Amino acid sequence: MDIKNVTVIGAGTMGNGIAHVFAQYGFKVILNDIKQEFIDRGLKAIKSNLDRQVKKGSLIEQQKAETLSRLKTTTDLKDACSDADIVIEAVTENESVKKDLFKTIDSLTKPTTLLASNTSSISITALAAVTSRPDKVIGMHFMNPVPVMKLVEVIRGHATSDDTYAAVRNLTEKLEKTPVEVNDFPGFVSNRVLLPMLNEAMYCVMEGVATPESIDTVMKLGMNHPMGPLQLADFIGLDVCLSIMNVLHEGLGDSKYRPCPLLKKMVAAGHLGRKSGKGFYDYSQPTK
Ligand code: NAD
Repeated sequence: MDIKNVTVIGAGTMGNGIAHVFAQYGFKVILNDIKQEFIDRGLKAIKSNLDRQVKKGSLIEQQKAETLSRLKTTTDLKDACSDADIVIEAVTENESVKKDLFKTIDSLTKPTTLLASNTSSISITALAAVTSRPDKVIGMHFMNPVPVMKLVEVIRGHATSDDTYAAVRNLTEKLEKTPVEVNDFPGFVSNRVLLPMLNEAMYCVMEGVATPESIDTVMKLGMNHPMGPLQLADFIGLDVCLSIMNVLHEGLGDSKYRPCPLLKKMVAAGHLGRKSGKGFYDYSQPTK
């Protein structure tokens, strides 16, 4: 299937990155959000990320202008969907919001349109089940920041067809990213492997095995990780970490996925990591 028109729903951190990359690689993109101010914020982020690419020399001014010329925006979901060959949903991580949206998108798109979700943890099979085309529903799990990160986990729901998978794999390769085929289980691969490691690092803090700085140093210098697990947890957001651990724990039913009590306590205290100014580290000073 020849994909030319891409619609991205949600202009937040991930949605604006996804729209940026598709427009950069020659696709006609429509970016949608519920309010104009969210679209404006997304567009501002895209422009500043394109400027950074120009400064670094990975794009020239003309490519930046061409990228922006391929990018349209609208708050009208019907307009956003009518011509799409694929719709990529990147809205807030909430199952009922996403299910409602998938139902609506299903009614607004051509029967051939592929429907993808960038969800980190919600079942693709469950999203597909609310549509009339579960064979055309798939997960495209981009990594943050999207213009930089090369991986896309391509998640096959229970009913995703081989044709849909092949089309999305080819599409990912056109963005010069690497698709990895994953089946639909809680946390897919990335979060199922990563989050228990972050959770274990939190147990080490809680049990007094070592300080956050020491744990991160062990993993950076000893395991060659670019970032320590607690620094990374702060970056992801401790509330997001807790919600993914809950998905793993509930979805897989194994006590090895129980969220660390210290993580629960920090989230209850509003210490959510970098975004709240405090997590395992203190971000209240601008230099930190
Ligand atoms: P975000 O909060 O930055 O952005 C979400 C956007 O969706 C907001 O602008 C919001 O207004 C919009 N939105 C909400 N409901 C909508 C609707 N019905 N129609 C249109 N727009 C709507 O969130 P994010 O971090 O970009 O995450 C988006 C998705 O990507 C989530 O499913 C998340 O799990 C996933 N994800 C996030 C990351 C990450 O590092 N942030 C990484 C991989 C995947």
